[in-house]
Amino acid sequence: MLDAHTHLDACGAAGPEGVAAIVDRATAAGVMAVVTVADDLDSARWVTRAAEWNPRVYAAVALHPTRATALTDVARAEIERLTAHPRVVAIGETGMDLYWPDRLAGCAQPDAQREAFAWHIELAKRTGKPLMIHNREADREVLDVLGAEGAPDTVIFHCFSSGSTMARLCADAGWLVSLSGTVTFRNARDLREAVPLVPLEQLLVETDAPFLTPHPYRGAPNEPYCLPYTVRALAELLGRPAEELAHVTTANACRVYGIPDTGRTL
Ligand SMILES: [Zn+2]
Ligand SMILES: [Zn+2]
Repeated sequence: MLDAHTHLDACGAAGPEGVAAIVDRATAAGVMAVVTVADDLDSARWVTRAAEWNPRVYAAVALHPTRATALTDVARAEIERLTAHPRVVAIGETGMDLYWPDRLAGCAQPDAQREAFAWHIELAKRTGKPLMIHNREADREVLDVLGAEGAPDTVIFHCFSSGSTMARLCADAGWLVSLSGTVTFRNARDLREAVPLVPLEQLLVETDAPFLTPHPYRGAPNEPYCLPYTVRALAELLGRPAEELAHVTTANACRVYGIPDTGRTL
């Protein structure tokens, strides 16, 4: 399996040893590679270093929508520079978050988020790297910006948590839907109805660690080794063998991120 979206720095990995420890635990559970995702500028610098420290780590860089006000000219220039790193496989996480602005002091407001999202879309198009979208309670706003700017070739909705309408839209547009531990929660009814509407070739799996720990460890810190619980829950939801889901989601991730698919030989 491949963890399509995780945050190794937030999991507590400061240096090469910390990264290796997490990746080794993941490997023992069959998770052979991870994409570690930046949410601010420090993190963007860190994830590219982590990808150099360990051959099983790839990176994605962007400013998180809640931090959109930090996207100064200097920050833009640095993100662009980091994007050129050969182990940076996506522009993310970017998008829109309407949950936090009223709850978190200093959180970027929707206007600033929209502008930063548009800039990241343009960067994804220019670099040809996939756009990795964070969408929290912002279906309409995300679609608005994508429509206005024009979507890049490859679009990934990380931690997909929308309902059937959005799932159908993603399916038709050829966009990827990345599922996290929330798919294992029995009470996520809308999500569990939405997932079967997406073709297998458009599904990814992720931990978004250290957040969103899958059942049965809900509430405990999440790590990439927890990914198989999400794969099993997804398989059960779709009525297919877990091995098939592991294989297909890995092939999908390798295809969209341009990572060699080593699954067959390991
Ligand atoms: Zn996110
Ligand atoms: Zn994330």
